[in-house]
Formats: sequence, structure tokens, C-alpha cells
Amino acid sequence: VEKRLFNLNDEIKTLFPLIQSDATKSDKNIVLELAEIPDLLMDEKEIRQVILNLVRNGLEASPAGSDLMIKTFTVDNDVILAIKDNGKGINPDVLEKIGTPFFTTKDNGTGLGLAVCYSIAERHNAKIEIETGRNGTTFYIRLKQFEQAM
Ligand code: ADP
Ligand code: MG
Repeated sequence: VEKRLFNLNDEIKTLFPLIQSDATKSDKNIVLELAEIPDLLMDEKEIRQVILNLVRNGLEASPAGSDLMIKTFTVDNDVILAIKDNGKGINPDVLEKIGTPFFTTKDNGTGLGLAVCYSIAERHNAKIEIETGRNGTTFYIRLKQFEQAM
């Protein structure tokens, strides 16, 4: 892990062309909603991995023609990255197992995307929260602003 100070919004903007082309291939639209957020001490390669894994899951879960939202905002002293899809949501029995290495419900899935996200979150002292229902799923990554003091 190699942490340095940078802004999550800049990373999202850098990845945007890649994400956008992934979305366009399956007829989905990416919507960015980036609030003003402070720089954070993070490992860029790892954070990039988290964004891409969550976006890819979101796109795979979304119906054609729908929007996938990537949002950043602050709550108290934390920075939140939210990835919101308009898929069918995650069933409780599946929800319980996600993040377990090799657990997948996809024919050609690896079941590693979320396991990787959880271990990266742990290395950043970040929390992953999931909100899911019939209208879709939102993954929240909550990063502490004062992580660098630790
Ligand atoms: P993979 O994408 O290879 O299946 P992941 O670890 O990324 O592996 O995800 C594990 C499982 O979690 C997926 O197979 C899927 O069932 C579920 N999942 C993850 N993200 C979403 C989402 N946004 N909407 C619905 N289900 C999801
Ligand atoms: Mg995945």
C-alpha cells in the first residue's frame, strides 16, 4: 500500500472515459454528481480498483437504458463515494455472502470484485455500506478525512 494525498473526484474524472465506454457498450448512461470534497490519503491504484469493481457490478446489474450514478459528498468529517444502480437489488441470501472470495451469482463471474473492495477498504480504514431494494442498489464507501493523522 502506497498512500498519497489526492482528490477522489480527480480519480473519478480520470477514469471517466473508461467507465463511459464500458457503459455505452451495454447501452447505459453514467451520471456524475461530484461535490466539493477534501483530498484524502489513499493508495491510488487500490482506490481505482474499488471504483472500477463497483461500477462494473453496477453496470452488470442495470437494465439497458438506465443511469448508473457515481456520487461523492461529505458527511461530518467523512468523504463518501456512492455508486447507485437501477438493478433489481440483492436478495438477503445473496447479500449475506457477497464479499466472500469466489462467491458469485454470475455464469462467468469470478466472485472476487467485492472481496477485493472489502480488503482495500480495510487498508484505508473505510467502511462499505449497502442499501438495496427493488429499485436498485447503492454501495457507499465511507472514508475518514483524518485518516492521515493515524
Ligand atoms: P462477480 O461480479 O464476479 O460476481 P463480485 O464480488 O463483484 O463478483 O460480486 C459478487 C456478487 O454480488 C455478484 O455475483 C452479484 O450477485 C452480487 N452483486 C454485486 N454487486 C451487485 C449489484 N450492484 N447489484 C446486484 N447484485 C450485486
Ligand atoms: Mg464484480
